[in-house]
Amino acid sequence: MTEQFSRRDFLSTSSQFGLAAAFAAPIVLVGSGVSAAEKPAVLGGTPIGKTSYSGWPVLQGEEEESLLKVLKSGHWFRSPTGSMVPQFEDAYAKMCGARFCIATSSGTASLMSALAAIDLGPGEEVVTTPYTFIATLNAIIGHFALPVLADVDIDSFQVDGKLAEAACSENTRCLLPVHIGGNPANMDDFLELGKKRGIPVIEDACQGHLGEWKGKKLGAVGDAGCFSFQVSKNLPSGEGGAVLTNDEILADRIYRSHSNCGGRHSGPNDYTHGLVRGLNHRMTEFQGALLLTQMKHIEKYAKIRNENGLYLNKLLAEIPGVFPAKVYDGAVNAWHLYMFRIEPEKFGINRNLFLQAIEAENVGWFGGGYGHGDWIEFVRRSYDTPSGRRVYPKAVLDQWAQRVGALPKHHNLCANAIWFSQNMLIGPKENMEIIADAVRRIQKNASEIAKM
Ligand SMILES: *Cc1c(COP(=O)(O)O)cnc(C)c1O
Repeated sequence: MTEQFSRRDFLSTSSQFGLAAAFAAPIVLVGSGVSAAEKPAVLGGTPIGKTSYSGWPVLQGEEEESLLKVLKSGHWFRSPTGSMVPQFEDAYAKMCGARFCIATSSGTASLMSALAAIDLGPGEEVVTTPYTFIATLNAIIGHFALPVLADVDIDSFQVDGKLAEAACSENTRCLLPVHIGGNPANMDDFLELGKKRGIPVIEDACQGHLGEWKGKKLGAVGDAGCFSFQVSKNLPSGEGGAVLTNDEILADRIYRSHSNCGGRHSGPNDYTHGLVRGLNHRMTEFQGALLLTQMKHIEKYAKIRNENGLYLNKLLAEIPGVFPAKVYDGAVNAWHLYMFRIEPEKFGINRNLFLQAIEAENVGWFGGGYGHGDWIEFVRRSYDTPSGRRVYPKAVLDQWAQRVGALPKHHNLCANAIWFSQNMLIGPKENMEIIADAVRRIQKNASEIAKM
């Protein structure tokens, strides 16, 4: 039996939207049947897509029932004996092949807890990627440490392991590779580097649910892995997060750091103060209940996204000037984002024009992704406070900025990358052909579009 859906399945399930359908299809894309050779829509032609979209998140059918169960139980918070959150932790750990899972209130909270558990502090450095969501940097700055950014591998959009090695110093306290877009970073490089320097590797797998590196699920490859269940993510609960680890001591410390120093197996007033810095980053039972129902189909969705993502990579790579983010050998992409970049000289127009043209084709929502990118300025401003200047005087930050350098590949992606979100990959294979047709049509007519 194939997991791939037929167009008819999609059309019939999508009509149930708005109801708690037993299995709801998140997206239906219908082609208008016009040829890619015809005039692009932005120049007045018929759009390639005649779309009918439904959004994200998608109800899996039992959310209402399990949320009501929590509501009526009066047990709304996570305690070591709670039901929904511990059940979710067990299920997620099992699904990802990790020994321990600690659920948190958000992805940022999971990063904060994992970094607290290794005692990250002022004056220390974390090597990570510039091409990431701001939360990665905020978690480092939240511990008054310095993010040291290593430029990306332009082919994969992922942090370059060799440059990460060059970014290390005697102050480097941990490595924080991010699987951006859900596309795995080169974990062999990071595991080797972590071992060589005797420092932990913490994965920011906030976009990496069910992605894989050489047979291991993302988040269970390094010493710890952090996830987000924010509503846009591939496993959503509005807000939420989790840390996976295979190390029991680290699991205890992460638990304490996320629960105001309280231990995994201790009673309500048994705190071991001082063992690890703690805050309250606990997940509620409501989030746990949602996640347990949302988890039901995530393996199926992951498989479909992967088939479609790889197929679209193949289709788009044939178009001049289009470069889909490469998936490393041995890696399985989690496809939180579908990412590609254009080389404007070869493609014929720049990203702004491309985005206008693709919007007119009506084949989905495309965006330019992370466009900010000036982290040097961001970090400088973050520490431009009386306490910040005490730990990081201007001379220290100047030297740090020089070490980080210009990050040309990161800035290339900020200018030329194009993304769309994971739900557009859940659908029949023909959807990918419709999307590729739209991109091809724009490229073929780029010189006309450029005159617009
Ligand atoms: C979403 C995300 C986070 C933060 O997760 P929240 O749940 O929004 O706090 C961190 N890192 C990356 C790469 C993310 O995509």
